[in-house]
Amino acid sequence: PCFTLCSGSACHATGCGPVAAAVEQELEKQGLTDKVRFRRTGCHGFCEQGPVAVIYPEGICYLKVKPEDVAEIITETIVNKKVIDRLLYVDPNTGEKATLENEIPFYKNQQRLILGLNLEIDPQSLEDYLAAGGYQALVKALFEMTPEQVVGEVKEAGLRGRGGAGFPSGVKWDFARNAPGEQKYVIVNCDEGDPGAYMDRSLMEGNPYAVLEGLMIGAYAIGASEGYVYIRQEYPLAVENLEVAIARAEEHGLLGRDILGSGFDFTVKVHRGAGAFICGEETSLLKSLEGMPGEPNARPPFPAIKGLWNKPTNINNVETWSNIPLIINRGAEFFNAIGTEGSKGTKIFSLVGKVNNTGLVEVPMGATLRDIIFKIGGGIPGDKAFKAVQTGGPSGGCLPADLLDTQVDFDELTRAGAMMGSGGMIVMDEDTCLVDLARYFLGFLSDESCGKCTPCREGIRQMLKILARITNGQGKEGDIERLQDLAETTRGASLCALGKTAPNPVLSTLKHFRDEYEAHIHDQR
Ligand code: SF4
Repeated sequence: PCFTLCSGSACHATGCGPVAAAVEQELEKQGLTDKVRFRRTGCHGFCEQGPVAVIYPEGICYLKVKPEDVAEIITETIVNKKVIDRLLYVDPNTGEKATLENEIPFYKNQQRLILGLNLEIDPQSLEDYLAAGGYQALVKALFEMTPEQVVGEVKEAGLRGRGGAGFPSGVKWDFARNAPGEQKYVIVNCDEGDPGAYMDRSLMEGNPYAVLEGLMIGAYAIGASEGYVYIRQEYPLAVENLEVAIARAEEHGLLGRDILGSGFDFTVKVHRGAGAFICGEETSLLKSLEGMPGEPNARPPFPAIKGLWNKPTNINNVETWSNIPLIINRGAEFFNAIGTEGSKGTKIFSLVGKVNNTGLVEVPMGATLRDIIFKIGGGIPGDKAFKAVQTGGPSGGCLPADLLDTQVDFDELTRAGAMMGSGGMIVMDEDTCLVDLARYFLGFLSDESCGKCTPCREGIRQMLKILARITNGQGKEGDIERLQDLAETTRGASLCALGKTAPNPVLSTLKHFRDEYEAHIHDQR
């Protein structure tokens, strides 16, 4: 048997530390340390119900576990094989209970190809990762495939970058591979800064080995011998687990010179970002890595040609790299069969806001917003009506109820006036003021704009001023038109994606909830 305890940041916040101490004490007390494995794992996803414990081999799932529940779980469930009713999940809509993790609607309706391994491994245990099939993809790539074949497989899989832009990863790899130059670099972008989004943090905390394995396969394909992980300083557990994973891989010859006797050399360094949202943008990230202020550059030249220290560089985000071992192990055809015509594989979202089940969800591309919010999220709490969902982070768009059947697909979401972004998904109920929401996001973006170019720096500031007066009941005739005009200019003339997408919260709420703006202005409320 195995007592598995989710030990991601969210479960730490809800008290998994004292629960873990209680498990260790109780196993010792009952003389079970040799018979029962206690495994701290990464995030299971159902964050608002933490700490989450799963007892194997049955897979019995207990939620909101407290230290005082531990002795009973060990005696009743592990020793006597009985289920403890009061710790089970209760459906807020039907009152039905679920015993096994995969019977809970939140999990049942997901396809956890990437997040699933978080449940199976202790993130600090290389042995766990190896036992779950880890590093098989690297071995396959190094010994059975040429670099061209690896790039070809990723292209054929149809993987698109999960960091926001959705650019085809294999094509991007090809640019770096074909760029002239002896020295090339690969980089993991773990500078996840969207409010409410924590997909990359959970992947890095829960399974840093998969990110590293993906990075190494990419390095082999591109011809890079050095890699960097650019990670937020605010993610201490992710940094800790990543550093342990690197050290363990080095000890076992999985990093360094002549990896596994293949002749492939690769080293990786960790660089902590100091918390600037703009450093998630590729050219800013590179400047920051080089020790300069994180300000974007005009492109071209693209990083694939002139990146870190002017050398060809490939940057992908954590979730993109995490998909690589899956593609190499299971093949492009397997991956390609999941999703829609233009968006393949699965996508992880952080589902937050006014929804019953908040947490991390992984769904096949093509799932609808309705499926995610109602089947997985369990709908809106307190019998309130759904009003809107914001996808794509602070510069994403808000979609109303009549667009709930929109599929999660890079192109579909953009067509609907939102965007995939890196996977933030915030649900609003009937009580949310959408003008206030636009003001909140513009406030965030105004703080985070680097100020290098005028349209973004001043455009966001002026839109924010207008939104502030509208929400303060001092809106003027013509404010809506002024907002629209500023939004179009900022979108068209800004240098980087932050400025180009910053008007989205304004434009999407104006498109779908214009009456709220008008009510604020005309009723002066
Ligand atoms: Fe900086 Fe904004 Fe210009 Fe980007 S668009 S360079 S964030 S001022």
